[in-house]
Parts: sequence; structure tokens; C-alpha cells
Amino acid sequence: MEGKSPPVIKVASKAGFCFGVKRAVSIAFESAKNNSSCVYTIGPIIHNPQVVRLLEENGIKVLSCVDDVTPGSCVIIRSHGIPLEQLEKLRRRGVKVIDATCPFVKKAQDIVSKLVDEGYVVAVMGEKEHPEVQALLSYGKKRAFIYTDLPKKAERIGIVAQTTQLPSVFFSAVCEVMRKCEGFTELRVFNTVCQSTAERQLECKKLAEEADVLIVIGGRMSANTKRLVEIARSCGVDAYHVEVADEIEGSWFLGKKMIGITAGASTPEWIIDAVIERVKKLTGGIVQDGRVKGPKRRD
Ligand code: SF4
Repeated sequence: MEGKSPPVIKVASKAGFCFGVKRAVSIAFESAKNNSSCVYTIGPIIHNPQVVRLLEENGIKVLSCVDDVTPGSCVIIRSHGIPLEQLEKLRRRGVKVIDATCPFVKKAQDIVSKLVDEGYVVAVMGEKEHPEVQALLSYGKKRAFIYTDLPKKAERIGIVAQTTQLPSVFFSAVCEVMRKCEGFTELRVFNTVCQSTAERQLECKKLAEEADVLIVIGGRMSANTKRLVEIARSCGVDAYHVEVADEIEGSWFLGKKMIGITAGASTPEWIIDAVIERVKKLTGGIVQDGRVKGPKRRD
């Protein structure tokens, strides 16, 4: 290695938890500490098995359906919210509800609710089966539709987006609604897209263009992590999707001068730190870490 300069390991400033996920996970850990009754989430709180396991070790169990929640227990609402009917069902069962819905998602829910109360039909731009979209539709009390299913005769229309959509995709959806509902008299557009997703993807693209190899850290089931891998590969860089540091192999870095590291919105800081340490150990590289770090893990 003599005479060779060590590679640079560049960590994306936006790698890891977004605001809403960070908040939900911290509410979950606080709830585990402060509640003597059983604490549940409906579905995993985030798409990261390591965090979900850690929460389980701290007493938070994952249930698949609200009907399985025992009266008198406690349920944490995930960052992307819950359909109104399910929320009401929990309340009727005497369940203590701890709402960790991201404030940006909550704002979109409130907009849908208000529009419907004012007589608008609401178009929701997003993935039909996604829990956030299901919750948004429920706030429309049967007058909210996925934008592609909007009744052709709709006249006064409001449109919102799933927070994780890209602004350009939302813009196309607005145009599509205008084309489809030719007779509309009023269209109110609410840009409920959260900048966090677009910023993370843009930074991933820039890093992929700069780096010789890119590590993307995140749960195998995490859609936003998989999207980062796709973006990186579309730039032609060798991109590896890993959940934890142990998966990383030294051969990936042979002859590489610039190593990029980024992570999905549901990847915790301690897993990113472990990956950086492993890459440093394998390559002797110099770390440039752009993240603003939070307090240390307390478990
Ligand atoms: S992506 Fe944005 S809206 Fe969604 S949870 Fe994170 S901060 Fe909230």
C-alpha cells in the first residue's frame, strides 16, 4: 500500500432518519419506558428490522391488525398515520393511543378533511396500497379518491400528494387530473410533498456521480432505500444495498478512490456508524461525514 493515498469515504449529509421517523422512533422508546401496560404498533414502526427488534426487546410488540389489540393496552401510531376508522375502533376499545404521526402527514390529513367539509372532491396522488395514502383517503369520508380514480364529472377538486412523492411526479398528476376532469370549475392544489425525500435522492445522485462505489444502507423491505439503490445504479456506479456492516466485503473497494455511503430514511445512526467503521477498517480510508449527528444511542 506504500505510496498509495487512502481512499476517501464520503457520507451523505442526508443519510438516515428523516425528521418524522426520528420523532416516531424516539416516541416509541419513550413510551416503552413510561408505560406499564402492553405497548403495540400496528405493523412495524419503520421498515428497519434492527430497530423493530430493538423496540421488541424494549417491550414494544408489532401486531398486524387493530382487532388484535387488547383493551387497556397502548398503541403507537406510526409516522405515516392510520385510517380514521381504525383510530376510532382503537378509541372505542379503550386503548390508549400515542400519536406519532409525522406532523407533515398530519397536515395533509387535515387538508383532506377541510377540503371535503368545504364541498370539494379530493384527489390523492400516491401509491394506493401505502398506509399513508389509505389514511389520507379515510379523512376524505368517501369523497377522496386516488387521483386516477377521480370521478370524471368532479367540479370542485382539491389535490394533495403522499408526502414521499417527488415534486415532478406530483406536477404530472395535477396535469392528468385537469385533463381527465375537463368540466371542473375549481382546482385547489396543495403541495404536501415533503422535501426530505427529494433532497435525499438528489444527494444520492450527486454522490453516485462522484464515487467509484456506493454503499446504500437500509432495510431490505424499505422502498425508499431500494429507490436510492436504483438511482445510484442508473448513474452507472457499483452500488450495494446492505442492512448491516457485516455484509460488506473488502473486494468491493479494490482500486477505488472514492467510496460513497448513504442510507434510507428508516436507517438509524448507529447502523450507519458501524458501516463507516467497517469500511474504514477494510480500506484505511479517510472519512468525510456530512451528517449532523444527534445524541448517542441510549439503550
Ligand atoms: S418523509 Fe417527510 S413526511 Fe414522511 S415521515 Fe419523513 S419527515 Fe415526515
